[in-house]
Amino acid sequence: MSKSETGKFKLIKGGTLIDGTGAGPVSGADILIEGSTIKAVGKDLNFSPEAEIIDATGMTVMPGLIDSHVHFRGTMKGGVLERVINPRELGLIQSISDAKTMLNAGYTTAKCCGSSNALFLKQAVAEGILSGAPRIVAAGYWLSQTFGHADAPYLPLEYVDIRTTKHPSNVSNSLICDGVDECIKATRYALRAGADFIKISTTGGFSSLGDRPTDVQYNLDEIKAIVDTAAQVGKYVTAHCEMSLKAAKQSIMGGVKTVDHALLTDDECIELAMEKDVVFVSTTIVFRNAIEAGRDVGKKLMDSYKRIHKAGATLATGTDTGLGVNSFGQNAQELELLVKYCDFSPMDAIVAATANGAKACFIGDSTGTIEPGKYADIIIVNGNPLEDITILQNAENVEMVILEGNIAKQNQ
Ligand SMILES: [Zn+2]
Repeated sequence: MSKSETGKFKLIKGGTLIDGTGAGPVSGADILIEGSTIKAVGKDLNFSPEAEIIDATGMTVMPGLIDSHVHFRGTMKGGVLERVINPRELGLIQSISDAKTMLNAGYTTAKCCGSSNALFLKQAVAEGILSGAPRIVAAGYWLSQTFGHADAPYLPLEYVDIRTTKHPSNVSNSLICDGVDECIKATRYALRAGADFIKISTTGGFSSLGDRPTDVQYNLDEIKAIVDTAAQVGKYVTAHCEMSLKAAKQSIMGGVKTVDHALLTDDECIELAMEKDVVFVSTTIVFRNAIEAGRDVGKKLMDSYKRIHKAGATLATGTDTGLGVNSFGQNAQELELLVKYCDFSPMDAIVAATANGAKACFIGDSTGTIEPGKYADIIIVNGNPLEDITILQNAENVEMVILEGNIAKQNQ
């Protein structure tokens, strides 16, 4: 996976380390990188004399940020008509630009929860023909039931069958499948196309036209069929699950590993999630206006995320960027909103956007914290995000981005 030469050393010196585990900041910590991985972390490390020295004095050194829910759809404003008329090729080019904008803002991993573009971006990064983009963890084609969140009711009815595993649409990048057999086939289709994980919708959504965020989607046996089929090839399942307790519990019982949006939870649901090592993924930024206007959905979201956090369950930051509500590069606003509205300390928000993000992307063993043996996915930031979490929103404050040991961004 690494493009760095092994044996090549870099030493980051003099910065204040926030390692992503939730441990307190350590000033003057050294980080030794060998090739693509972190070799050692500590004070006054013995290092090879040929190491390239990176001076981080006066700055914060922390894991690269992770957005656990975006869509590289390449539509700029997200309107329905735009999705229909935006040519696929233009969407792909827009998504290249969006990915680069994220890396420039300090994001070293982006989990794309539905868009075929992400499959191509990932491939281009792996082939080394696209640089300056984050690591991309991609669902590709997204599974939805007929009359589900990723069904597109503005299309004629006959399109539903066309999109059942045969000709994925340019419009929503979804596969419509109903019943165990179709769910198994659609899962295999998504895997064949290159999915790193399977994305399903277990509720309707605020952004869908034909259903409601409270609608329960998929039956338990359909969810289990998808989870089992993905598990046969070592892959996990992520659920879009907005505002139904029944759907949240059914998703977790069915074996889903991340519950995204999670606008409605209760103690039983959270306990179940903790038992089964399920990660919740926040998307506060999408509902910012609802929170600030005091609307019911905003209140529910705050109650849910506070409850999840208080229970000690794992929550990772997502943003749903790519749907048109917020823009690529603004992803770190999510951290501020968790602090402002959901009882997270700045450190908790950083853990949610680093270590917990890696778990939500199913790569928690290899990245998300600054610890020996993990990929050197590191950012060096001007200022102290523990004092002001909003500094992470300004790409100019992100002085350096290191991805798998390579310097991917360096401010002059
Ligand atoms: Zn989404």
